[in-house]
Amino acid sequence: MIYLDHAATTPVPRAVAEEMFRVLTEDYGNPSSQYAYGRRAKGLVEDCRETVAQALGCEAARLFFTSCGTESDNWAFTAALWQNRRVGRHIVTTAVEHSAVLERCRWLEQDGYEITRILPDRDGNIPAEKVLEAVRPDTALVSVMLVNNETGNIYPISEIAAGLGAKNEKTLLHTDAVQGFLKVPFSAKTLGADFIALSAHKIGGPKGIGALYIGGRVRGPRALLPGGGQESGFRAGTEATAQIAGFAKATALRMENFAENLRHMAEIKAYAVERLGEISDLRFVARGTAPHVLSVSMPGYPSQNVVNELSEAGICISAGSACHQGKPSQVTAALGLEKRVAAGVVRLSFGPETTKKEIDAAADALRLHHDTRFPML
Ligand code: PLP
Repeated sequence: MIYLDHAATTPVPRAVAEEMFRVLTEDYGNPSSQYAYGRRAKGLVEDCRETVAQALGCEAARLFFTSCGTESDNWAFTAALWQNRRVGRHIVTTAVEHSAVLERCRWLEQDGYEITRILPDRDGNIPAEKVLEAVRPDTALVSVMLVNNETGNIYPISEIAAGLGAKNEKTLLHTDAVQGFLKVPFSAKTLGADFIALSAHKIGGPKGIGALYIGGRVRGPRALLPGGGQESGFRAGTEATAQIAGFAKATALRMENFAENLRHMAEIKAYAVERLGEISDLRFVARGTAPHVLSVSMPGYPSQNVVNELSEAGICISAGSACHQGKPSQVTAALGLEKRVAAGVVRLSFGPETTKKEIDAAADALRLHHDTRFPML
């Protein structure tokens, strides 16, 4: 199998799985238990927190484990809107966020919040000024992702953070960095956001574990899950020790070769651009500069057909910005692509293990699909 869908999820290295197995079988104590075996599990969780916090460039006390990136995004909203409940009921976000944010905003709209959704330009970019212009005296939260999962566009979070105080010093800033963590260089300090959402399964960790950084401007914070006092009382529930250990191990592995991983993914992406560019009619969608995501379209060739055909050849790519139940995704819609282009969008995404040979196989399969099928739209 050729796996070119690393933005969807990533393969788990053996060392990560082995560490999880070790914790499940040898270190299965409950971190809340009072005896030494429980304290050992607690120590493990805190060591793991330290590992992930170091990679994010923040104090361990500011990092909370959650069950996934989606939960982290939702908690950021809960905490920010609670803190700023008297500031107002206006939120600024973008039209190209992950559904975790888009759907939360849709809910909030039904509850009477006003949402301003900033559109990207044709290249998928969103300048900081466009976001800042939308901030008002009643803006409780600005939520802008760090790296777009469909186009690889990197958004100017530190510029937004730097300009936000002048617009409204109370407004809090959340960034969904699920696609940015260990894929583009940044730290909690340089970013300046009040909340940063992470997810382990995008970096070689297991599914079902994420984290939320909560900065010093956030008071409390508002608990997500009240209960038995875990995660400093803010996100209760017995710690998922094996998942946490897997998250930390994956983080440590990616950190070991951080610069080399980024360089390799960028080289793979450049090679993919070169090889796919040989297919006549193929268009590149947006101009995302993150090293691991590339969206292209074969106008007139419905993306689901392309994905299915490559799947039969043992190649996994995603219908990225493509149709959700017959409708283009929010991202495709927001980019304003013409219908034939929008319907043909597929996403290839890469990891540190991706090889040029795999890119060759995908490029050949795409070309074959293009040359042997009639366009349908
Ligand atoms: N945010 C972004 C940008 C993502 O790409 C994803 C996963 O696809 C998520 C959030 C959700 O993360 P999780 O699958 O851990 O809930």
